Amino acid sequence: MTLDAKIPGGPLGKKWALFKDTAGLISPANKRKFKILVVGSGLAGASAAATLGEQGYQVRCFCYQDSPRRAHSIAAQGGINAAKNYQNDGDSVFRLFYDTIKGGDFRSREANVYRLAEVSTFIIDQCVAQGVPFAREYSGLLANRSFGGAQVSRTFYARGQTGQQLLLGAYQALQRQVALGQVEMLPRTEMLDLILVHGHAKGIVVRNLVTGRVDSHAADAVLLCTGGYSNIFYLSTNAKGCNVTATYRAYKQGALFANPCYTQIHPTCIPASGDYQSKLTLMSESLRNDGRVWVPKRKEDCFRPPRGISEVERDYYLERKYPGYGNLAPRDIASRSAKEVCDEERGIGPGGRGVYLDFSDALRRLGRPIIEERYGNLFKIYNNITGEDAYELPMRIYPAVHYTMGGLWVDYNLMSNIPGLYVLGEANFSDHGANRLGASALMQGLADGYFIIPYTLTDYLVTQLGVQRPSSDHPAFRSAEHRVGTRTAQLLSIRGNRSTDSFHRELGLLLWNNCGMSRSREGLQRALEEIPKIREEFWRNASIPGTGEGLNQSLEKAGRIADFLEFGELLCYDALHREESCGGHFRIEHQTDEGEALRDDENYAYVAAWKFDGEHVAPSLIKEHLVYESVQFATRSYK
Ligand SMILES: Cc1cc2nc3c(=O)[nH]c(=O)nc-3n(C[C@H](O)[C@H](O)[C@H](O)COP(=O)(O)OP(=O)(O)OC[C@H]3O[C@@H](n4cnc5c(N)ncnc54)[C@H](O)[C@@H]3O)c2cc1C
Repeated sequence: MTLDAKIPGGPLGKKWALFKDTAGLISPANKRKFKILVVGSGLAGASAAATLGEQGYQVRCFCYQDSPRRAHSIAAQGGINAAKNYQNDGDSVFRLFYDTIKGGDFRSREANVYRLAEVSTFIIDQCVAQGVPFAREYSGLLANRSFGGAQVSRTFYARGQTGQQLLLGAYQALQRQVALGQVEMLPRTEMLDLILVHGHAKGIVVRNLVTGRVDSHAADAVLLCTGGYSNIFYLSTNAKGCNVTATYRAYKQGALFANPCYTQIHPTCIPASGDYQSKLTLMSESLRNDGRVWVPKRKEDCFRPPRGISEVERDYYLERKYPGYGNLAPRDIASRSAKEVCDEERGIGPGGRGVYLDFSDALRRLGRPIIEERYGNLFKIYNNITGEDAYELPMRIYPAVHYTMGGLWVDYNLMSNIPGLYVLGEANFSDHGANRLGASALMQGLADGYFIIPYTLTDYLVTQLGVQRPSSDHPAFRSAEHRVGTRTAQLLSIRGNRSTDSFHRELGLLLWNNCGMSRSREGLQRALEEIPKIREEFWRNASIPGTGEGLNQSLEKAGRIADFLEFGELLCYDALHREESCGGHFRIEHQTDEGEALRDDENYAYVAAWKFDGEHVAPSLIKEHLVYESVQFATRSYK
């Protein structure tokens, strides 16, 4: 199988314009005839469903929460990037493009990333027009702050609630279409399989999470906007419901899964306080604008109260190692550096797995009211969770799994290798390479939904004009429903005595230790031996009470964990085959003398797309070689 990324010709800056000028068009009278299924109603799904509804398509949108407003996008705190150059600090579309390519360690597709930077400016205009309350300067202009991996201020924000406010904007656009009858919203509904007819995505199987009813829906195209899979690690900053089910089941139907091992570790989370914690809390990256990261120089000082440790006894290790970016070094670098100092036994707090994020200088320089205005709600969250007052004592932070750059492979049009199956937002692998710069996931989700899919989907649907949409009594629908029914029955028949959560925790810990912040051949091989054993015990001994006939959250959770237990292997296969370090993927065998990631552009400048070859069979690897025409490979230095 060869992969065609379908990158338009012409110079980089003209590719998207060229695509739009030449893409197929569908008249309004014909748009009405097409039915589109959008799975997910986070920023990517809600923006896509609303825009496609506005265009006149018949849209059905699904989510497993009780309302689209509860999609995980709501958790995003820090901000959204855009190359508006409001600060006159030298920003431009090219610079945002370049920072994103460099931030992703030269493992993302040039044309997609350029388009993202280009479209970023429209996103802000659209959201402002929707009434998203971005922070403003005294003059009334929108305010900006800087984020990790950038030397300009291009991050737009709404206090610490950017994701929530953007989601409210997208939600109201979605609800307007619901009220107009253009979009039918099906909350509390989980997609459990994808249906192909003549090789095209033509439907999905869903389970109504309240009644237990399994149904299928036919359509002319399917959009997966189902978010990321960080929750596979059990402890992560993601909502507990985040999962891989939709994309993994599509993978089993033939969609390629790209770069699954590219997970992002965020440096600024509240450290775990015990073994039975179920999730970790992110302290926004924006805090690194004013907070300074340090640990004691000597391990003997780790237990001393931080305010008693003098300046000369402190190691501001990010400022020392990366003077160019200092505390704003990108996430992978800041995370790895924190792990390093903790491995040297200079970590602070319980278990020695923490570093200080100190605001005392900023408080002196700016005064408490300004710090309160900028970060007040984050200080409150920190206080609620730790019982500590970060105005008085430095915060304690430690890295945690946060975002997944891997996802289903898509071409320039956001279409997977299955015709008619599109993948948007965090669910696709697309724009972030091996590491995502802060504030660019929201940008990508909204770019995909508001500005890219309306053009690229239409271009595909032109080819479907006159093609009869299958009816839901087509045999492909019956057999997909049968697959789902059988799996649900299998889960309910286990009746073992070990909680599904305990399997999830065991898998998560195994992955964190062996496929987390740093990985080795030996550890990955060990994980590949252990995961099948955990899986085998799960299917023999998991305790899943209740029935499939109504609301059964244990059943929902078990299905998602069962998918994680298979997907975990794919993550390790991918990490094992990549004999280089890049971005968030650090193979200890491949590092420079100074302990920095050592990339191998000659042999690994490709997207690793994995094909399902059958149950319990190693997947096969298909490569999309990355060609850079407008930037040169460069060692990624932030010094
Ligand atoms: C704590 C936190 C803070 C963050 N802060 C920032 C930030 O400041 N800036 C930034 O750019 N990014 C940030 N991110 C990342 C960003 O929030 C996410 O990448 C982004 O919101 C994902 O959007 P999405 O639409 O792709 O997915 P989501 O918002 O996760 O939505 C997924 C949707 O899919 C649905 N779904 C999933 N599976 C199924 C299924 N099988 N059947 C039916 N429905 C399904 C869900 O119900 C939901 O509606 C943050 C992430 C976290 C965890």
